[in-house]
Amino acid sequence: MLKGVRRVVVKVGTQLLMGGKTGSEERVAELVAALAGLRRRGLEVILVTSGAIGAGMRILGTAKRPSHIPGLQAHAAVGQCRLMSLYETACAKLGFHAGQLLLTAADVRDRDRYLNVMHCLHEMLQTGILPVINENDSVSVDEIQFGNNDTLAALVGSMCNADLVILLTTIDGMHERLPEAAGFGRRLSVVPAVTPRLRQMAMGTDGNALSVGGMITKVHAAEMLMKSGAAMWIACGRDFAVLNDILKGADVGSLFVAADGARLNAQKRFLAFFSKPAGDVVVDAGAEKALVAQGRSLLPSGITAVLGSFKRGATVRVVNASGLELAKGVTNYDSAELALIRGRNTHEIPGLLGGEHHYEEVIHRDHLVLTSAEG
Ligand code: GLU
Repeated sequence: MLKGVRRVVVKVGTQLLMGGKTGSEERVAELVAALAGLRRRGLEVILVTSGAIGAGMRILGTAKRPSHIPGLQAHAAVGQCRLMSLYETACAKLGFHAGQLLLTAADVRDRDRYLNVMHCLHEMLQTGILPVINENDSVSVDEIQFGNNDTLAALVGSMCNADLVILLTTIDGMHERLPEAAGFGRRLSVVPAVTPRLRQMAMGTDGNALSVGGMITKVHAAEMLMKSGAAMWIACGRDFAVLNDILKGADVGSLFVAADGARLNAQKRFLAFFSKPAGDVVVDAGAEKALVAQGRSLLPSGITAVLGSFKRGATVRVVNASGLELAKGVTNYDSAELALIRGRNTHEIPGLLGGEHHYEEVIHRDHLVLTSAEG
């Protein structure tokens, strides 16, 4: 797997940059030196960095992480400048430059804005600039929030077709957790699939004074990346030389790599992980089977209800009668048309809608991606 790795996203948590004995300046310089090592191996490197709020706390002398949102926004506004100045200073010493990209979820849900972000990233990689990405915490509130940088790193990895996403944290990987035994068991060295049991083991491990995500956000990130055809590696970043060990294939941390190696194409990755659904199409058990087990398109006959108001070409969720999301797809019909043709046979469509040009499928298989967590 490592032989095929060309593009790598590295995510670094706040604790690794701010929490140690040495100051953040030294830590950023050490990190940049390790990233430069990867670049010398011929890899394209993208950094997702936390630490804006942590840096803001240091500068403003705030002992306790603010609990109100405007306080967090203001701390990020102060800290992000410091963080970038440290990165640029460290990069310039090694002969290249850092470029900042601050994102909110709204920046990547819309197809045009998503493409703009992607083009900017590609340009930076082509010209040897180190992209340094963080959530735009000063404006990213409520529904436009990613919420944590594990998710952000996975989305960036999926967006730019990375081969490997490395999440550096303060623990040496994911450990087995048995319900009957208190504490943790052996380290999971290689994880070939995310199962319900694995998700269960990752629950309830979130949070400390400086960090946001926990193991469950990392497992969700791994699921997204494995579906995108990328691998994800969780490792301890107290010593950034671990990046070199990882690229040499050392048995450190936890590597999540899908056994089948299937890779969703770019359009389906956008559909699955980025696009915001405008409504729901509820389907019966027959259509569920056709979509999930038989790889078919969605026809009007299997639709029982339509929720929300949307146009042709919108992204919609396909859900079953119990509300479980099965898939996301691009609809060929608007919500009013679907209300008229639901439950009917394809050959009845012209009679119901009038006009001449009709699609047989409500969602063609090429524009549908299965998203059920159980899948
Ligand atoms: N964006 C946050 C920060 O820069 C960190 C979020 C996270 O670590 O997941 O402080």
